[in-house]
Amino acid sequence: MPETIFSKIIEGEIPSHKVYEDDYVYAFLDISQVTKGHTLLVPKKASANIFETDAETMKHIGVAIPKIANAIKDAFNPNGLNIIQNNGEFADQSVFHLHFHFLPRYENDVDGFGYKWVTHEDTIDDDQKAELAKQISAQIEG
Ligand code: AMP
Repeated sequence: MPETIFSKIIEGEIPSHKVYEDDYVYAFLDISQVTKGHTLLVPKKASANIFETDAETMKHIGVAIPKIANAIKDAFNPNGLNIIQNNGEFADQSVFHLHFHFLPRYENDVDGFGYKWVTHEDTIDDDQKAELAKQISAQIEG
């Protein structure tokens, strides 16, 4: 499988704002921060997307999902949370290493039909992202 930016993040070759890591998964802030606390969860074992992921990897993802979701909930008390997972270019996948978006939802993020998928990459600086990641990881035990 061709290397992606997420393998480099897992290896520490590219910096990220880590919120959680174990032997099998890595979670970090999405650079775009569509909403406050927007986080990505990826398996360390690379696969392009859900079509190519083995069951064992999904077990580890399954264990991690509620940990990350509850940590975000406890950190920011959002009104809700979407977990989004894109497969294939047609379905808006841009990085071909399986990943799950955790998108906390707040009353004021609504725009007509729903949230706006708008990047805040340039308006939330690195220090702010570090602080957000710290607030989430502080809620995860062990
Ligand atoms: P998708 O469109 O589902 O493939 O999502 C890929 C996500 O990766 C996007 O939301 C990007 O903002 C995010 N992303 C790309 N590069 C980085 C990076 N270096 N650090 C954190 N998130 C990233």
